[in-house]
Amino acid sequence: MKAAELIAIEDLYGAHNYKPLDVVIERAKGPWVWDVEGKKYLDCLAAYSAVNQGHCHPRLVKVMQQQAEILTLTSRAFRNNLWPLFAKETCELLGYESMLPMNGGAEAVETGIKLCRRWGYVAKGIPQYEAEIIVCSGNFHGRTTTIISFSDDPLAKDFYGPYTPGFITIPYGDAEALEKAITPRTAAFLVEPIQGEAGVVVPPPGFLAKAAEICKAHNVLLFCDEIQSGLGRTGALLASEHEKVKPDLISIGKALSGGMYPVSAVLSSREIMNVFKHATHGSTYGGNPMACAVSREALRVLVEENLAENAVVQGAYFMEELRKIRHPHIDFVRGKGLWIGLVLKQDGPKAMTYCRALKEQGVLAKDTHDWIIRFAPPLVITREEVDWAMERIRRVFA
Ligand SMILES: *Cc1c(COP(=O)(O)O)cnc(C)c1O
Repeated sequence: MKAAELIAIEDLYGAHNYKPLDVVIERAKGPWVWDVEGKKYLDCLAAYSAVNQGHCHPRLVKVMQQQAEILTLTSRAFRNNLWPLFAKETCELLGYESMLPMNGGAEAVETGIKLCRRWGYVAKGIPQYEAEIIVCSGNFHGRTTTIISFSDDPLAKDFYGPYTPGFITIPYGDAEALEKAITPRTAAFLVEPIQGEAGVVVPPPGFLAKAAEICKAHNVLLFCDEIQSGLGRTGALLASEHEKVKPDLISIGKALSGGMYPVSAVLSSREIMNVFKHATHGSTYGGNPMACAVSREALRVLVEENLAENAVVQGAYFMEELRKIRHPHIDFVRGKGLWIGLVLKQDGPKAMTYCRALKEQGVLAKDTHDWIIRFAPPLVITREEVDWAMERIRRVFA
């Protein structure tokens, strides 16, 4: 079927909670995707960093195919042979003692929120149901009713109340505001080390380290949402490593399965995780053998192909080349690793207009918040492929 026909069907039968670019993708390989008409594009979104390993990585395809014929789901009512290994390897790789597996990212954040609250009552002694969690303005942590309760994006939040209470918002990057917001009822500080959906917002240097220090001093858990910032995107396995911070708990997802299958998790110390007791939390698909098989391989690919290192090298080059473009509507370029935001001045066309033009040239990028174009290609991208993209980006801004 042709693109126009498929778009018409989607618009008729599909819910309109997305307004995608009009490119109908049919297949993909590495950083490349092809539409139904056979046109090739360089993917500079990587499914919001879920395909850091590149599309249809042969090792992941193989493991997925093999595991599909062996065992896919047992539920946690029984044990399976892969979850113990997935837990051990992931904990060892990321430096944690204990792991709780879920599926989508929002589920991992919800799990982390429940863990923080429960820890607040059971371990810290906060009076029952008075626990507070401090969050940041501009946050994006997912789409559940509780998570959007502390969003400040009206598109994500409006018309979904009544909202879950217990969240206090401070400005992103403001350690002083964090310290002021802490009360004896504060269980945790939930923060993205770099805000992705807000437009690749990098906080002032030292912010996360200072926040960690403040949390420690006040017996408050530092909960870093590394769902998008983690697993290589910023040039490190975890973005918190850039400030030598070891959060008390982290949520990971997206690239955890390299785009094959939704897999997410929360990791923490054994002491914190042990506030969850039998039957107090769970998920039918969480820790299923298919997810474990795919994710174990996805993590091995990240490490063995040095994808975080490649993010450092190609990211620096990509940003340097973007900064060379002189155009009256470009304000500045920011980012870390292969996570780049090109910020436009608000007196020209919106980012969406440029994303459409980039699509025509064969580069798929996604706007955020009207004025920011985000570039976040799969971490397998080569210098030649960055050049291919840059040539087209320059054309759009010529
Ligand atoms: C994408 C994202 C989530 C939500 O993940 P889903 O899989 O879409 O539920 C949560 N936090 C951050 C930082 C994200 O980027």
